[in-house]
Amino acid sequence: MSQRRVIVVTGASRGIGRSVAAQLAGPECDIVINYNSSLKGAEETASLVEARGGTPHLKGFSVSDPEAVRKAFGEIVGALGRVDVLVNNAGITKDNLLAMMKDTEWDAVMDTNLKGAFLCSQAVIKPMMRQRYGRIVNVTSIVGVIGNPGQCNYAAAKAGIIGFTRALAREIVSRKITVNAVAPGFIDTEMTHALPQKAREMLLTQIPAARYGKPEEVAAAVEFLASEAAGYITGQVIHVNGGMFMG
Ligand code: NAP
Repeated sequence: MSQRRVIVVTGASRGIGRSVAAQLAGPECDIVINYNSSLKGAEETASLVEARGGTPHLKGFSVSDPEAVRKAFGEIVGALGRVDVLVNNAGITKDNLLAMMKDTEWDAVMDTNLKGAFLCSQAVIKPMMRQRYGRIVNVTSIVGVIGNPGQCNYAAAKAGIIGFTRALAREIVSRKITVNAVAPGFIDTEMTHALPQKAREMLLTQIPAARYGKPEEVAAAVEFLASEAAGYITGQVIHVNGGMFMG
């Protein structure tokens, strides 16, 4: 591994992705901050990266757009020479009860949350194989393990991420590339702020820690899995959920 680390975080314009980008930043570190629509948010993340001594690079593209992903990663590898860490964090919700769920709501969540991780991982896998080094960390969800009414699309995509993580981990372990997942419970971000107040209060009663998690607490688990110390850990799912589910 070279001394300078290149780290790509998708969906890093706010929330968990922003915390991950900031937490992984340090001297001798290039942090590629991906965003979809929020350039301003990505710029705020860049300031946090700089404050920790890292070098930020903003990269706007949708993880669900195959051409855009290939172009972006081609540019990243062309400019920075390598990718050491990929954090597949970008995600959306389009909640609805199954009886009412539109095809478009299903497809949008699958395309961003599952296909996006496939596309970005595929785009880094050859450079990582050439390096004989890499860390891929996929952000799944407690919902992909225990389910949640109104989230059949999201639960299916996040469960898919776990299967994807384990299959790729087995495929690539001989090249010194690890592939793991972090499964947050309910974390205080814009995603959960969008829930109705009643649902937020009801969820709280199901969390033994009796509070929502902080993005930094998810970032800490991602940081560990992305570290040198975690080189013998692959195909695992680390739950960060205040005791809501113990797997
Ligand atoms: P958030 O605050 O809604 O942020 C989502 C991020 O994803 C934004 O930066 C957004 O970028 C980006 N994004 C959305 N669609 C994208 C696309 N097509 N291409 C690239 N980026 C895209 O969500 P969060 O709570 O931080 O969640 C981050 C991840 O953790 C997601 O995968 C989510 O499913 C997972 N998670 C969250 C929780 C929770 O309780 N919050 C729990 C379990 C798992 P723009 O703003 O630029 O569009």
